[in-house]
Amino acid sequence: MSSGIISKGARQLVDELQGGSLEASKVFETYRKRINELTKLNAFITSLEYKPNARKEGSLYGLPLAIKDNISTEGIRTTCASLMLKDYMPPYDATAVAKLKAAGVSILGKTNMDEFGMGSSGENSAFGPTRNPWDIERVPGGSSSGSAVAVSARLSPAALGTDTGGSIRAPASFTGTVGFKPSYGYVSRYGLIAYANSLEQIGVIARTVDDAALIFGVIRGKDRFDSTSTDAKPVSSNTGRLFSGGHFKGALLPQLSDLVSKDVREAFDSSVAKLDSEGIEFAEERVEELELALKSYYVVACCEATTNLARYDGVRYGPVADPSRDWKSAISESRTMFGKEVKARIMLGSYMLSSGYYEEYYLKALYIRRNLKLRLLKLSESYDFIYTPTMPVLPWKIGEMIDDPLQVYLSDALTVIANLTGAPAISIPIALKKGLPVGGQLQGRYGLDDRLLELAATISGLLKFRGEPSI
Ligand code: GLN
Repeated sequence: MSSGIISKGARQLVDELQGGSLEASKVFETYRKRINELTKLNAFITSLEYKPNARKEGSLYGLPLAIKDNISTEGIRTTCASLMLKDYMPPYDATAVAKLKAAGVSILGKTNMDEFGMGSSGENSAFGPTRNPWDIERVPGGSSSGSAVAVSARLSPAALGTDTGGSIRAPASFTGTVGFKPSYGYVSRYGLIAYANSLEQIGVIARTVDDAALIFGVIRGKDRFDSTSTDAKPVSSNTGRLFSGGHFKGALLPQLSDLVSKDVREAFDSSVAKLDSEGIEFAEERVEELELALKSYYVVACCEATTNLARYDGVRYGPVADPSRDWKSAISESRTMFGKEVKARIMLGSYMLSSGYYEEYYLKALYIRRNLKLRLLKLSESYDFIYTPTMPVLPWKIGEMIDDPLQVYLSDALTVIANLTGAPAISIPIALKKGLPVGGQLQGRYGLDDRLLELAATISGLLKFRGEPSI
């Protein structure tokens, strides 16, 4: 069990820092020491020395945080865990980072991840796999692997992650932490190095729902540098059930349970039974449109990735190949810097966007996505939330699935739904199975992030999961 400073959550640290009973430098150095002691977890690509933040009046003054390495930090190397950007120094801060700094945060470092966010295990990193503190032979989930491990192993009180198809929630589930993906547009993507713009969001990994809400409260909001950002409440926010009278109703999706392993199903079913006994009502729903959700996700994600990653050519970004070479071979040389998974997706995306196949794949995927969105919006008029496991399986052994990418893609089946629809979703730890954490996922209605957070806090309180890795 951890003790002292590292046992305190973000909210408690902030209270004590503001009350004067803790010093910002002391808190930072305590975490820094632990980061240096636990380098075997490979959670950080870059760890930093203490730099005092002058914003003493800031609402998070003195709070140290870890930031995923695809979120731009001015003057701090930001690699996306790729050789392509191994020396890249952003000249500006992402809006989310600028807001945290303005609130008084000090950055502990930049966390390991799957290269450019492409992966579900944390193994696709040019800096080596991140390790799960519950069992260091196992994957911690990805792509925000280092952020989740940092929070789980008490290397940071909380962290920023990004979620394109589950990259905050998957590692939160595998490490026993809370992972929150806000509604699309509720956090500015300015300064987030793009993988698939229409799907991704910056969000928070923390130890409790309350801590995630605290940090979300600081980074959210419309930003003039991101035209897709918004802070408008949805017009329909007063329709539907929406926590009427404190009585909650959750939708279950049993059609997805074939995907779910026995261990995860047992943990999930007992959480449903417990919540049911506490007065939360559940009903089963069949959503035909879910059958093609995962396929649609991978088509859209690869197509957007191809377009976004075209800028890494050694001219605009990426290491410059020998300028005496001809143009074409210099560019291809520079593009060999990408890892295997990234190359595969660029090729798939280019194929699916090419003439003739565009209609066959990309447009169909958009059509499936739209239907799913409409159907789930309708469903949210009768329910407060959709409840599923976060990951269908327990964390696997490092290397075990490396030659079976399709199996890894399948593990995203439950998380991609919220990226396709843009709805907020959160993973909370619900149980341990075979000594490994299992996460439950709550999806809310688009734009009602605060209500989802309230509900997740209530459900966490009822499930009373306690536990941390003994590392
Ligand atoms: N595993 C999914 C993918 O590889 C999701 C990744 C993410 O959310 N960045 O695309």
